[in-house]
Amino acid sequence: MSRWPTTLAIAGAALATTLVAARTQPADPADLIVHNAAIYTVDAKQPRARALAVRGSRLVVVGSDADALALRGPRTRVVDARGRAVVPGLQDAHAHFTGLGAALQMLDLRGTTSLEQILDRVRQQAAKAQPGEWILGRSWDQNDWPEKAWPTHEALDRVAPANPVYLTRVDGHAAFANAKAMEMAGISAETKDPDGGRLIRDAQGRPTGVFVDRAMGLVASRIPPPSSRQLEEQILLADATTRALGLTMVHDAGVSSQTVEAYRRLFDAGRLKTRLYVMLGMPLAQLKPHFEKGPITSYADHRLAVRAVKVVADGALGSRGAAMLAPYSDEPGTTGLLLLPPDEVYQITLAAARAGFQTCIHAIGDRANRLVLDTFERVQGEVPAARALRLRNEHAQILDPADIPRFARLGVIPAMQATHATSDMPWVPARIGPERTAAGAYVWRKLMNTGVVIANGSDFPVEEPNPMFGLYAAITRQDREGQPPGGWMAGERMTREEALASFTINAAYAAHAEADLGSLVPGKLADFVMLSDDVMQVPAPQILTTRSLLTVVGGEVVHE
Ligand SMILES: [Zn+2]
Repeated sequence: MSRWPTTLAIAGAALATTLVAARTQPADPADLIVHNAAIYTVDAKQPRARALAVRGSRLVVVGSDADALALRGPRTRVVDARGRAVVPGLQDAHAHFTGLGAALQMLDLRGTTSLEQILDRVRQQAAKAQPGEWILGRSWDQNDWPEKAWPTHEALDRVAPANPVYLTRVDGHAAFANAKAMEMAGISAETKDPDGGRLIRDAQGRPTGVFVDRAMGLVASRIPPPSSRQLEEQILLADATTRALGLTMVHDAGVSSQTVEAYRRLFDAGRLKTRLYVMLGMPLAQLKPHFEKGPITSYADHRLAVRAVKVVADGALGSRGAAMLAPYSDEPGTTGLLLLPPDEVYQITLAAARAGFQTCIHAIGDRANRLVLDTFERVQGEVPAARALRLRNEHAQILDPADIPRFARLGVIPAMQATHATSDMPWVPARIGPERTAAGAYVWRKLMNTGVVIANGSDFPVEEPNPMFGLYAAITRQDREGQPPGGWMAGERMTREEALASFTINAAYAAHAEADLGSLVPGKLADFVMLSDDVMQVPAPQILTTRSLLTVVGGEVVHE
């Protein structure tokens, strides 16, 4: 009974295949065709197209419906976009991939507007936890509370007396711990501030539970590291998030050797889909084995690259840790913190350049940005090939006007985050004063006017990973409620074309990947996203609710 129908079905399918082949005769059919689309290619030679066709992992046609549909074969998947927008796969040029996964595993305190709300969440978590088990949380911001002051540990001790609690601030540059966590870390009034960090103290000099920048490590180092199983879980959680958001590649800013190995295992197993451009984050001694092996440029069909190093020069503006040339306007005793001695920044950059690795340095304050540019200039003088490595200032938030033209002169890429500008704009003028703000705070246009390209990103999980929030912020310089009217320092806004380029081709350039990624051109890897709304045409607020309907990485549909 079962044989006849099966055989007939196969015969029928074979017949249909023959008929289609006889009619269209594509010599080498495509695997996937998207037609009837509003395609933004981000390629100057052909900015717009109607259809594209993919064979294997690469684009074979980007052009008219007729051109693409000519490659339709019996097994070709054909998607009618019904006029929807298609853009190149979006890239986040500065983010923390496992950090996103870890964040998804911890208490998310973003959006809380009082300390009481935070205490409630910790209380609930403590009720479920074993005694002694760490309670981890993230993204509180005292600027969102009525009192705006640093919290103190007694409040946490009341809701979680038996569990160590460690909650990081929204910028990742300060943490709030309870007495149990401080006891486990051996913190007392005698504990000194480490270089590049400080403990907030009461009038008697006793630590109050808030640890800034490098002082965070005093407590964080006591948190057990994730097992390799937990690490893989974090990676896959992040991957599921990025795919759904239309992010096809992430530049991962500060990665351990253990994590690189986990990436490799998961790519080999076909479980990880988002392309990763790794910046190794570790001391020079640990970098040396990587330098000896040399850069990995395109592992697994350009899914993994390990050819960059991440260095952190200073802290963040929110916690007044960013290194400034002159004191903070709202705390004149402080100019911020350099987290590494300048010579160490130089030694790492030099060794990386000699080994053919790009260096990407976190620099937020104007003093840190100048130090980084000075370091790059010095290393380029000693290793001429270093210029071709496309050295990067990560964040480049506050610049002294004299340093703005130096990026173009040195071929240095500012890797900036549009949503940092719109998150920080309410308090930046108070921190650094109106003159420094107007002259050099998040000055995308001033930088672009010198001829540099800006690679855009989110710094997730510091900001949300959704690239639509970044596009919107880049175009409007407004928060998601549309404030301020007209945009903050509106002259610094990007056009839609510039914003899209910053999340695609410019990011690819910053990753040495523009020959294969970042625009929709035949021969390039087939990374693209079909969007629910046309982000190049709709009113700006509608960008915020735009979703990916189809995310394709290397010709493979990874989300729909
Ligand atoms: Zn970062």
